[in-house]
Amino acid sequence: MPGVPADERDGKPPFPTVVRPRERPDRPPTCTVCRGPAWWNGWRVVFPVVAAVVAGVLERWELPLPLAKCSQCRHGFTCYPDGIYPRRQYQLDAVAGAVASVVLGGASVAAAARTMGAGPTTVRRWLAWIAVLAEPRDLVALAARVDPDSPAGAGLSSVVAAPSARRAGAAAVLVALEHLGAALVRGGLRLMMRSGLGRVLGWQHQAHGEAVLLTRPPSRLSPAMALWREAALA
Ligand SMILES: [Zn+2]
Repeated sequence: MPGVPADERDGKPPFPTVVRPRERPDRPPTCTVCRGPAWWNGWRVVFPVVAAVVAGVLERWELPLPLAKCSQCRHGFTCYPDGIYPRRQYQLDAVAGAVASVVLGGASVAAAARTMGAGPTTVRRWLAWIAVLAEPRDLVALAARVDPDSPAGAGLSSVVAAPSARRAGAAAVLVALEHLGAALVRGGLRLMMRSGLGRVLGWQHQAHGEAVLLTRPPSRLSPAMALWREAALA
């Protein structure tokens, strides 16, 4: 699966596997490249680890994704259901929960890894990825634009005591993402994700078809995101 680090592929975390039904609308959406009409072109099965609606419960899904093909330019594309982020085995709410348990909750990397059925290297990679994903002040400023009543910056100053610069950075990004995610939901955005990380990246993907990958630079959110609000929430 492109975009998924090698040690996250084909892993079998110690959760029950939930077989999800094949679900797709009667017709696929228009082509993601040329906006031409598309037709259904089969399925591919992925195995995401998701944080279920019941807080804290992790599940591994056997999830069939419908494939579409453009009848105009022949571009093939995958249609993702709400709440599923492309090209990630460990879904964003699960990743946010694991990293938060370390940088905000004081859990060890090893303990977080065990909970996730992942290796410590994987958890450290998530932590490093989140630490440089965005500037907390940009996220908080964007939250204030989306929702002028949002409590801008509250909680950011309380996370600077983390034991390393990287952990402090990841903690500040996570808290700022929570602010922006909450502002987006108050602003009317409907998303299945519960974490700030999931909501913000899910919004970016929903509005712009852009997936932020672990393995491919640039991994930062674009500052131009601020300009997307009107389109995303219109
Ligand atoms: Zn096309």
